[in-house]
Amino acid sequence: MNVSKNNLFNTKAFEDEFYYGGNDLGASWSKDKTAFRLWAPTASEVSVNLFKSGYEDDRIESLPMNKDVNGSWYIEKTGDLHGIYYTYSVTVEGSTKEAVDPYVKAVGVNGKRGMVVNLELTNPVGFEDHKRPEFINPTDAIIYELHIRDFSIDESSGIKNKGKYLAFTEEDTTTKSGVKTGLNHLKDLGITHLHLLPSFDFASIDETTLSNNDFNWGYDPENYNVPEGSYSKDPYKGEVRINEFKQMVKSLHDNDIRVIMDVVYNHTYVSADSNFNKIVPGYYYRMNEDGSFSDASGCGNETASERVMVRKYIVDSVVYWAKEYKIDGFRFDLMGIHDIETMNAVRRALDEIDPSIIVYGEGWTAGDSPLPESKRAIKTNMKLLDSRIATFSDDIRDGIKGSVFEDRDTGFVSGKEAMEETMKFGIVASTKHNQIDYSKLNYSDFPWAKEPTQTITYASAHDNLSLWDKLATSNSFDSEEDRIKMNKLSSAIVLTSQGIPFFQAGEEFLRSKPLNDSASEFDHNSYKSPDSVNSLKWHRKEEYIDVYDYYKGLIEFRKEHSGLRMTTASEINENLKFMEGLESGVITYTIEHSPNDEKSEAILLIFNANKHKITVNIPEGNWNVYVDDKSAGTKVIRSLDKGKVVVEPISCLVLVKE
Ligand code: CA
Repeated sequence: MNVSKNNLFNTKAFEDEFYYGGNDLGASWSKDKTAFRLWAPTASEVSVNLFKSGYEDDRIESLPMNKDVNGSWYIEKTGDLHGIYYTYSVTVEGSTKEAVDPYVKAVGVNGKRGMVVNLELTNPVGFEDHKRPEFINPTDAIIYELHIRDFSIDESSGIKNKGKYLAFTEEDTTTKSGVKTGLNHLKDLGITHLHLLPSFDFASIDETTLSNNDFNWGYDPENYNVPEGSYSKDPYKGEVRINEFKQMVKSLHDNDIRVIMDVVYNHTYVSADSNFNKIVPGYYYRMNEDGSFSDASGCGNETASERVMVRKYIVDSVVYWAKEYKIDGFRFDLMGIHDIETMNAVRRALDEIDPSIIVYGEGWTAGDSPLPESKRAIKTNMKLLDSRIATFSDDIRDGIKGSVFEDRDTGFVSGKEAMEETMKFGIVASTKHNQIDYSKLNYSDFPWAKEPTQTITYASAHDNLSLWDKLATSNSFDSEEDRIKMNKLSSAIVLTSQGIPFFQAGEEFLRSKPLNDSASEFDHNSYKSPDSVNSLKWHRKEEYIDVYDYYKGLIEFRKEHSGLRMTTASEINENLKFMEGLESGVITYTIEHSPNDEKSEAILLIFNANKHKITVNIPEGNWNVYVDDKSAGTKVIRSLDKGKVVVEPISCLVLVKE
């Protein structure tokens, strides 16, 4: 890539001449004809190649395309082309390369050819008319982060369609002893949103050798607008994975669970030979001064969202998933690589479809980028992003249980001192609050969230050690009983704090990823580790059913109290008061809130990270305990009418004044 062309792509003159704003990029099917349109402004020749299949040597014909407006190329082919596979041959500076359409809607095996598709034929019965589950405020969400294969692949799942989209359509599955698994489990747990790790077509699993049981998280995008083939029963036929993906979405929706996709527009699996780069060399990526690919993703390249046709691509892609598949939310991988304007454009486009669709992302990059920091969609720039774009709070994540980068580091629940301000900062969802000393936080030094709708509150995700493994590593000297208390305290903090709570699948039954059957060493980065490491072991739910019940109870409690789900920073600052002058390792606060101006209520929350009991003076009134060291839920555990309450070691107490 020469530098002068890279600079040309950044000019307004190039944008003005070559911005193609139409909505017909890709192959547009109709009964009588299919229209192909490709944006390739630097090409001298483009043809579309038609094939009978997605992989065999069975070319039907190649049709030269015509140069059309704004750098696009166009041709129509008469007849019903549904099921015909295609690629483009694009000639740039004398070199011709075959590429898959970036706007492709269906592909053959391994995504090597596109397929023309009549999408109506891919809709399961009732799909087009079915509605998303009711949902209003982002802070009402309870997000559960899951890998499709992990969900069902273990024998203990009792699920037939192991590792497949269709696993999500099986109701009433259990372990051998009758403990709920799969969809049955998700319904019972009460989450509102299922966040799926990459489920667009990714490159790292060979779809022709599925019996090898290879595993990958899937952060290696190949075709952004098509479901991954390895989760399908037949990755060879382009329409099958689309239909099965839609069956999954419909089944989850029918069970009142919304669906979030983990999207990875920040890089592509291959760089120079990606479809993007074969079609418009250099345009889709940021480049270093020396002409090499810059690499803020740590995966070999980074896309250039600030360029208009890249931005349009990202916006068009999420809009397509939201409309065609009724996806309810998007989690942007390494969102900090994208520019602020692109993320706000994503938000605006989704609002036109349905404002209840949620958007959040990782507010950081994995390496340096030529994009100036002031333009990046990073945590410290959240004030420039729409208030309904959220980012992950690494402050509370590591404040709760220690740094993800240092195994032995502990956090508030596991015995670290002086974490109180960081926990308070997490409790108010990183917003501005009068009672927080911002000079005493672990990472941040100012309230980066303008509203609680900008903060994902969490302690664990697919990256790094699971919460249980982290506690086992940092607190190996403690008993399992104590570590369970720490885990429960962590869940109580996450599920009662302001912001949008999030946790990794299986955290609710102490998910573990042991290495080589070791009892003391755990997988930090299981992105391609085998099922034995990654899969959800449902028998652990039998073993730790009390932990599961605790999570379930906390979720029920959160749903019943809008005071835990306030939507503005000013509401939080007004209604949430921390008690002062407590011993170290203790955080106590009250929320006085009037949900819907009907029923006024007060909630008192006490978190004790100490290994000894504490006694706390409680405000006047009749207080009912709903959450303690043992259980959680919406039933009164006991009532208190005196001025003092005892809180057990490493535990919490949540009371409601009634
Ligand atoms: Ca694939």
